Amino acid sequence: MNKSKKIVTIVMVVVCSSMIVAGCQSDQTSPSQPTEQKKADTQTNQKDKTTSDDNQIQAIRSQFKNATPTQWGEKMPGIISKLPTNEKVIALTFDACGGKHGDGYDIEIMQFLQENQIPATLFLNSRWIETHTELTKQLANNPLFEIENHGSEHRPLSMNGRSVYGIQGTKNLDGIIQEVIVNHRLIEKTTGKAPRFFRSGTAYYDDIAVQVAKRLGEQIAGFHITGDAGATFNQAQVKNAMLQAKPGSIILLHMNQPRGDTAEGIKEAIPLLKQQGYRFVKMDQYISAPSS
Ligand SMILES: [Zn+2]
Repeated sequence: MNKSKKIVTIVMVVVCSSMIVAGCQSDQTSPSQPTEQKKADTQTNQKDKTTSDDNQIQAIRSQFKNATPTQWGEKMPGIISKLPTNEKVIALTFDACGGKHGDGYDIEIMQFLQENQIPATLFLNSRWIETHTELTKQLANNPLFEIENHGSEHRPLSMNGRSVYGIQGTKNLDGIIQEVIVNHRLIEKTTGKAPRFFRSGTAYYDDIAVQVAKRLGEQIAGFHITGDAGATFNQAQVKNAMLQAKPGSIILLHMNQPRGDTAEGIKEAIPLLKQQGYRFVKMDQYISAPSS
């Protein structure tokens, strides 16, 4: 991305962030112009949708404004760590965190998945999507993959600014809402499909944040197995971690650190898991949308 384009993108994000209540309807990247009537219909639909989104956000603000969190962590009621099944299925999930040290793309992993027709759930952060917009569209168009929400600024979701691993959490209820919905809208705009699952940067939450995300239409995707510990595991560690899988395990891995050994470990583990009778699925095949 050249510098001027990057500045435009940053400005757009800032505008989107500050316009969260009003909604962000800029759509200047659309390559084909619809007919005038279609355009008018689209604008009306967007307006209706934005109005209903705004009402929903207002209702959430009222419901949770005085709520006090009592739990903090990676696992708690409302966080999905396993698929609700006894079938020998595994959900591979890959985070793409974005940012200065997290905007890479591990093509070796993604080629391996495609060559072997292994489905996966991809959690993309706003920063990564902005760096890899065309790639995001390509991945979204591949039926092997589903694109889900890895946050707008890659922050733990907190009502009161709790931090973890040195990463500052959201400071309040509005921070939680923005962390979920700014990237929600970016994914929907980029791929044409709204995400249904959310995983925060660090995968930490308080209990109020878990409820707020669900009210915004996204269930929290936790994990049963840390597959690569932020892409710091070596090949054997990745393999051994993945071989701990049980029916319904969600395995957390990374697709944004090509210098790590995640690809090598996956290539060893997947054939062994297949030999044990496991197959691989996307999260939305086993978890229905939240009812709110
Ligand atoms: Zn991340």
